[in-house]
Formats: sequence, structure tokens, C-alpha cells
Amino acid sequence: MKFSELFHTIQGEGQLIGVPSVFFRTSYCNLRCVWCDTPYTSWKPENKDITVAESVAAIAQYGCKHVVITGGEPFIQTEELRALCDKLAKRGHHITIETNATVFAEVAAHLISMSPKLRNSNPPADNRFLKRHERERIQPDVIRKFLDAYPCQVKFVVDTPDDLAEIQALQADIGIPAETIMLMPQGITPQMLQQKQEWLVELCKANGYRYSPRVHVDIWGDKRGV
Ligand code: SF4
Repeated sequence: MKFSELFHTIQGEGQLIGVPSVFFRTSYCNLRCVWCDTPYTSWKPENKDITVAESVAAIAQYGCKHVVITGGEPFIQTEELRALCDKLAKRGHHITIETNATVFAEVAAHLISMSPKLRNSNPPADNRFLKRHERERIQPDVIRKFLDAYPCQVKFVVDTPDDLAEIQALQADIGIPAETIMLMPQGITPQMLQQKQEWLVELCKANGYRYSPRVHVDIWGDKRGV
């Protein structure tokens, strides 16, 4: 498998916030978000190899029940992801997969944490990735399949209050239950998050969505491997 990093920390976002977890970050992504907080998996992907057996052994050494497989985009390495999840599930781990929800596959997972990308993620107009990013970033059928097949949360990274209309349209088109939707502020520093959280909480209250802090950014900013 192509991977970028593996480390023991707490989950910083979503419904399992604060839970000690081993993060296994795959490399490579089919999207190119302008504000990507892991550009070493997308814009300039790291190219380290690890076998499924080696991944399981490295994860097992922490003695931690929760495993978060993240990226990059884990589902683009479908066969390896399926093998890894099978082995981790047999060992009794709780598995969360964080995905941009553009590729569906059946794997052994306990929580699918989708983060469909809004228009605010588009690369600049002159960037060669713009067309592909714009074409692929929202896949309604994929989101629907995950919702039907797994316990899910749907996290949106919100940059300005104007993003709300796009979220509401997706919610209506795809039939995303309001209680699965979480809004998170876009930012890679605690200051950036703080500037957005007050109005974001008001949007959550008005729409029945959940607010998700980004605890790892509050604690460590954009430091890697924590
Ligand atoms: S989907 Fe995630 S990993 Fe891929 S470019 Fe966007 S933020 Fe980065």
C-alpha cells in the first residue's frame, strides 16, 4: 500500500472526538483541494510502501482499539484497503474510514466518515487540476450508497456562510439526514478556526446540524504525525 504516516493520537473531529486512536494515513488522492491540510498525500504525494501485514503489525503495537484509516483517499487503493480492514476487524479493532466520498467499495468498517468537498475546495482557475477536481468532487450515488450501507457521518469543511446553500442543496438532492451532518471550520491554525466558529455554530443551530471542533488543530496547528 502507498502510505504517508502512522501514529497514535486522539480523534480530533466528528462523533468520536477525543477517542484514543491509531491513524493510518494512505497516500494519493483523486482530488486537489486548494486548502488541503495533507498536501503530502495529494499535491505532492509521498510514495512509501507498506504491506497489509506490516500495517497490521505496526497498528497492533499500540494496543489501541480504535483505528482511523485516512488519507489522501483510502478508497482508491480498494483491494489493499479491503484486506487491511478484514484483518483489523478480525483482531477486534473499531475501524473508522475517513473519505472524500467519491469512490464506493464494500469493506469491513464501523464508521464511514465522509467529507464531500464543496466549491470552496476548488483549485485556482489556472490550475491544471481544476476541471478534474470540479468533475469528481461530488458523487451523489457514492454518498447515497455509503449512507445505505454503513453508520455514517457527513462532515463539511465550511469557509464562509455562503457555503450553506450548497450544503442544503446536497442534503435535499441526496437525502442526507440532518443529524449525520457536521460542519467544521476551514483552517490550519487555531486563529483561523476561532474566526469562523461563532457564525458556524449559528448555522448549525438553524439547520439541525452538528458542530465539530477540530481539536488536533487547536492543540497542534498543522504539525504532522500528532
Ligand atoms: S480530498 Fe482530502 S486529501 Fe484529497 S485533496 Fe482534498 S483535503 Fe486533501
